[in-house]
Amino acid sequence: MQEKALNSPGFEIDPDLVITLTHGDPIMFEPFWKEVGHNATVTISGWEKMSYYACDPDDICWFLEPDFANEVLRLHRIVNNAATNGCHIIPGAGSTQLIHATLHALASIEARRHPVNVVSAAPYYSMYSDINSLKSALYHWAGDAATFKGDDNFIEIVCSPNNPDGMIRHAVLSNNAGRRVHDMAYYWPHYTPMRGPADHDIMLFTMSKATGHAGTRIGWALVKDTDVAREMVNYITLNTNGVSRDSQVRAARILKVISDGYEFPNSNSAGQFFHIGRHLLADRWRRLRQAMEVLGKFSLPQFSTEFCEFFKEHAQTYPGFAWLRSEDESINDCGDFFKSINVQIRNGRLFGAGPNYVRISLMGSDAYFDGFIKRITSVG
Ligand code: PMP
Repeated sequence: MQEKALNSPGFEIDPDLVITLTHGDPIMFEPFWKEVGHNATVTISGWEKMSYYACDPDDICWFLEPDFANEVLRLHRIVNNAATNGCHIIPGAGSTQLIHATLHALASIEARRHPVNVVSAAPYYSMYSDINSLKSALYHWAGDAATFKGDDNFIEIVCSPNNPDGMIRHAVLSNNAGRRVHDMAYYWPHYTPMRGPADHDIMLFTMSKATGHAGTRIGWALVKDTDVAREMVNYITLNTNGVSRDSQVRAARILKVISDGYEFPNSNSAGQFFHIGRHLLADRWRRLRQAMEVLGKFSLPQFSTEFCEFFKEHAQTYPGFAWLRSEDESINDCGDFFKSINVQIRNGRLFGAGPNYVRISLMGSDAYFDGFIKRITSVG
C-alpha cells in the first residue's frame, strides 16, 4: 500500500485490506507539518556537520548539537513539563537507544549483582520485555513490577502517561535502593493534561511522540547524575559512536517551529501544534468511543478531566493508543476477533496483560483510522 495513497483525502480502504493498527507510527500529525511548509525545512550543505564532534570533544556529551540542546530546553520551559535545571541532555537514536543506554549505565556504574532485574508495572510497553533479546550480561527483564518479589537489585521503568493504557503512573516499588527510569514519551499537552514539571533523576523523551517525527530517530534523556550521564554517553559511543548530527539539526528546527508558535503566535500559518494535536486526538477518541458503543463488545479506559497547566483549563486525556478490554464472554481472545475483521492489533499478552485486552494505535493515517471506524461500525 502506497503511503501517498493512504494519506490522500478521501482515499477509501478496500474492504478486504488488512488495516494495521499495531505500531504507534505518528502519521496523524503529517497534515500539520505540511501546512507549516518551508518554515520547518532544513538545508544542510555538503561541507557542514562532517565532524564526529558536535561540540567540544571534552564535553561529557560530545555529540550533542548545541542548537538541539537549546531548543529542548526552550520547549520544556514553554510547556513546563520537566524540571531541567542542572540536567545533562543526552540525545539518542530515539528513546529506544536511550532506554538501553540507561539500563546499561545504571547496571554498570554501581556495585550490583548481575544481571540486575528490570521491571515495569503491567500493562507495560511491550518493548521493555524485549530487552532480553540483546543478551546483556548486566541486566535482564524480570516482568511486572507489581508482583516483583526480589530484593533491591532492580531498575523500575515507569512509563507515564503509560503505553498502552494512557494512565498517569508512579513507581510501584518503594525500596529506595533500587533505581528508576521515567519514560515520559507521552507527557505532552496533546495527550494528557500537564500537571506541572516532572522532576526525576532520569527522564526520557522522544521526537516520535512529541512532534510525530519518528523517522528522524531522535530522543533525549534528561539526567541529573553526572556519572550516569557519562556512562550513557559511553554506551552510545560504543553502540553508534555518537548520534546523527543531521538529525539533531532537523529535530532542533521542528522543536523551534513549535516553540515559535507559542512565543510568536503568528510565526506560521499552521497554528499551534499542541492545540491542533489535541483537537485531532480528541476527534479520533470521540469517533472511537461512538464506534465501540455501537459494537458493544469492548470497553475503553475512562479518564477524569484534570486542570491542564499548559492550556490553563480543565482538559481531557487523549492517549495515542486505545487499550480495549473485552466485555463479551464469547470472545476469549480479542486478537481472534480483530483478525476476523482484517484489523491487525497488538494482543494484551505482549504488555503483560491477558488476551482479553488489545492495544490499537490511534496515531496512524486518516485513511487507516477512517477505515477502522467504518469497519467497526459495519460489524456492530
Ligand atoms: N517509550 C515509549 C513509551 C514508546 O511508546 C516508544 C515508541 N512506541 C518509545 C519509548 C520508543 O520511541 P522511539 O525509539 O521512536 O523514540
